[in-house]
Amino acid sequence: MKNNSTHYVENPDWNNICLVCGTRYQDAMPESCAICNDERQYVPPTGQKWTSYVAMSRANTIRIGNPLPDVYDLRISPAFGIGQLAHLVVSPGGNLLWDCIPFIDEATIAFIRSKGGLRGIAISHPHYYSLMKAWADAFECPVYLHQADKQWVLDGSDRVRFFEGAKQVLWDGMEIVHTGGHFAGSTILHAPQTGKEGSVFAGDTLQIAPSRQFISIMYSYPNVIPLPVSKILSIAGIVNPLAFDSMYGAFEWQKIHTGAKEIFTRTIARYEEIYGHG
Ligand SMILES: [Zn+2]
Ligand SMILES: [Zn+2]
Repeated sequence: MKNNSTHYVENPDWNNICLVCGTRYQDAMPESCAICNDERQYVPPTGQKWTSYVAMSRANTIRIGNPLPDVYDLRISPAFGIGQLAHLVVSPGGNLLWDCIPFIDEATIAFIRSKGGLRGIAISHPHYYSLMKAWADAFECPVYLHQADKQWVLDGSDRVRFFEGAKQVLWDGMEIVHTGGHFAGSTILHAPQTGKEGSVFAGDTLQIAPSRQFISIMYSYPNVIPLPVSKILSIAGIVNPLAFDSMYGAFEWQKIHTGAKEIFTRTIARYEEIYGHG
């Protein structure tokens, strides 16, 4: 479905987008992208490149999946930037967009409006801040981010609500849970009302392996930089008390429809077996 995005094409605020990670810069484009130059991301051998909303709207649409009756996943098609999914959690008290993608179009806005719009947006960590300001403006809703990653907000907005501490309680039992690890402010979403016995939306705070039998917890996934085992065990201590049976990560294959808690427990036991307790 081709989008009808004239209104947005005319908005110059939506340009200055890093072609590699999808981060949108509010001010003039810098020489290089701060996110891509950080040791958790990378600048490809072909070098730093930028794009604009105009260029993206000529080539991209948003594909919408439906992994659970009340959950939709959104992905830019063809794949763009990091290639992450955002998840729309449809809930009686209001819908939440978990994580964000660096594109938006009229067809997707209309789809989300048909489900009741958005009450809020929550983003796991700076790699997915992307086009959050445009999304928040389109739905006139707040964006919940952890205070510990404030320095990485490169496209600020009055709609951003920073929270501190262990969690941000939302509505319908949903909570944004702070774990740290990948970034100081990395979070996961616990949605107890979705799936059979609750779901965790992991961003890449917890990385579901391609086999869907293991979940890794690292400082950088593309650069394969580990975390100390003490940190992994402290994150496990935060995740373990949550009730969940399904887990959804930031990438297409990262869907564990059932048995996710058991897989998480097994993964942590494996870390302990190999590395001890740090
Ligand atoms: Zn970048
Ligand atoms: Zn990341």
